[in-house]
Amino acid sequence: MTEARRFRPTWAEVSTGAFGSNVRALRDLVSPARVLAVLKADAYGHGASALAPVALANGADSIGVSSIEEGLSLRNAGITAPILLLGSVYPLDNFVHVIDAGLIPTVSSLESAQRLAAAAASAGRRADFHLKVDTGMGRLGVSPAGARPVLEWAAKQASLRLAGVYSHFASADSDGHYTNAQLEEFLRIRQLAQSLGIGGADFHVANSAAAIAVPASRLDLVRPGIALYGYPGVPMPAGASVEPVLSWKSATVFQKRVPAGTSISYGRTWTAAKDADVATVPVGYADGVPRAATGKASVLIRGQRRPVIGRVTMDHILVDVTDAGAGVGDEVVLIGRQGSSRITADDWAEWAGTISYEILTGISGRVPRVLTP
Ligand SMILES: *Cc1c(COP(=O)(O)O)cnc(C)c1O
Repeated sequence: MTEARRFRPTWAEVSTGAFGSNVRALRDLVSPARVLAVLKADAYGHGASALAPVALANGADSIGVSSIEEGLSLRNAGITAPILLLGSVYPLDNFVHVIDAGLIPTVSSLESAQRLAAAAASAGRRADFHLKVDTGMGRLGVSPAGARPVLEWAAKQASLRLAGVYSHFASADSDGHYTNAQLEEFLRIRQLAQSLGIGGADFHVANSAAAIAVPASRLDLVRPGIALYGYPGVPMPAGASVEPVLSWKSATVFQKRVPAGTSISYGRTWTAAKDADVATVPVGYADGVPRAATGKASVLIRGQRRPVIGRVTMDHILVDVTDAGAGVGDEVVLIGRQGSSRITADDWAEWAGTISYEILTGISGRVPRVLTP
């Protein structure tokens, strides 16, 4: 989080207090299972190097990221906790760098286990790894039938330590039947590993939705991502709650009164039906405002939802502030609270036909992240 000098009044506030309290809420909910905080994609757009220490201080005991790059960036930020690489490390000669940085790779094939063992042996090290089994997501992971040969082979390697075995749900937020079938398949893998005398590995399968809604899936640890940022995706049990961590703000930089019949923005998709006050806000699709939300989105100005009118442009949106008593310099909230009103990433997701994850990770690097308590 480099603090470059800011001129444009557009920024995102990341509440470390809200994030810490979300981590504690998840930890308390799933205990005695432990929490691996998923901080991939720069902590879902919130800033991973700032939030990793907060996650660890509030009860997470390890971190998950997607790529070697993301793992190295946390190591460079001084994070010494275990970091699991949830993505692939392909090409496999990358293992040398994974071992070097003490990152924990995911292995999805016998070949990958063999390459890791060889890389660890030549470094004179013992490499921790997690084996991923595909129980029905169809993305990464050895097939359930292919798990046994990898488990048996890896158990004999002095340069390897099986630190975990995991899988990933395809529909934990929407299909309990399929989720249970995946969980049962995974529990058969765990039984197989136990029958092979493999001990000490952490078994884990739960993303946010499963960790919250499917207690039987919590096992040794859970891997929440989106819930830590305040978007559980499924109802939280009574007494537990999380809150959005990120607020996205701007300010109006121009305002004009236009007569009825005036068209606004590219393609002239909006025309004033009556005389209107139109405010210009310096945030656009290059900042991550989804152009697909054209005609649907609102923002908060003076405590009220005001419609975004005309097409979202690269650097600006236009807002109808007729009769709002608004003026240049007014605070604009794209995500967050203003007065008693609130807009969430879920609102933007609905307007743009996507999910909160894509809205949050889509807030571009052009938007400075500012830490707040
Ligand atoms: C992203 C990811 C998670 C976290 O998922 P959420 O739905 O954000 O909780 C967990 N496990 C794996 C393997 C992932 O890729």
